[in-house]
Amino acid sequence: MNRTGYSLLSVVIPSFNEELVIRETHQRLISALKRIPKVGLELVYVDDGSEDTTLDILRGIQGADDRVRIVALSRNFGHQVALTAGLEHASGDIVAVIDADLQDPPEAIMEMVNRWRAGADVAYGVRSLRQGEGASKRAFSHAFYRLMNRLSEVPVPLDTGDFRLMDRMVVDALLAMPEQSRYVRGMVAWTGFRQEPVHFERAPRLAGGSKYSFGKMVRLAADGILSFSVIPLRLASYLGFAASVLALAGIVYALVLRLLTDVWVTGWTLLFIAMLFLGGVQLLVLGVIGEYLGRAYGELKRRPLYFVKETIGFPPRGTTDGRDGEATS
Ligand code: UDP
Ligand code: MG
Repeated sequence: MNRTGYSLLSVVIPSFNEELVIRETHQRLISALKRIPKVGLELVYVDDGSEDTTLDILRGIQGADDRVRIVALSRNFGHQVALTAGLEHASGDIVAVIDADLQDPPEAIMEMVNRWRAGADVAYGVRSLRQGEGASKRAFSHAFYRLMNRLSEVPVPLDTGDFRLMDRMVVDALLAMPEQSRYVRGMVAWTGFRQEPVHFERAPRLAGGSKYSFGKMVRLAADGILSFSVIPLRLASYLGFAASVLALAGIVYALVLRLLTDVWVTGWTLLFIAMLFLGGVQLLVLGVIGEYLGRAYGELKRRPLYFVKETIGFPPRGTTDGRDGEATS
């Protein structure tokens, strides 16, 4: 399509228990986005089963601004699924994804749009600073991204989150990937196309605590590694090989000792250690295989990724999806 003409920009905002920040987020989004020339706006808030008043606040925001759409999910499905739900409901020629807590600066979206106009299909945010995040969280992400790139067949750019802008082509490609364990930033990298970084400083969360519990973070990391790499499965062969080499060394040692000194290696300590070692290796490998099997089982069930409880503010079907009569070429 023509990237220099008028385009519809959708912004997807996954929100889970964000009552403390969501109003301010909306205001800052609007004031940053209205500066971008030649774009129409659509804001798709996904309420990921919030237990607080987030959805009510969103209703209020929507009542006052008809560019706002709400997708309310039937329960908490997690960030990556909420994000996918938003992408599925967005109708823009370009679609941006941003966190609800203002850690990603909405002002950077303008730069992303400029990149897109200059030919990039994906403009992804790269954090150059992480304020207000604990040392343990920073260490965890640092280690994770580097491990991930070691293992993965598709390198995911370092220090990126899901803050990015995508061309319609890329969004459609992403939505054509039906997997249940979704690691969206990896999937976007996997689609190919022309992807360019936009650097920004990550601010501290405006208010409230992180909605990513440690468990959710570990699961995301596991999804990232296991959906993009089978190297952990190869671990079995490596460990088997290492154990065999050790065993062989033991045999040679025992034989040489016997031939040279007339002493037999005896004692149950060695036996016990060898047994524990082998048992440990076998359980570890079984666990790795189990992880993949569990995921395969999850995929096999082919359940829908999420259920929608309610959508608000979407134009009725069959209309020009909110483009105000603009040509949709
Ligand atoms: N989020 C969500 N569902 C969840 C957890 C988080 O939609 O189950 C949203 C959350 O509202 C926020 C974004 O995902 O907009 C990132 O979450 P958060 O800021 O808590 O993560 P962090 O920045 O600590 O990694
Ligand atoms: Mg955050």
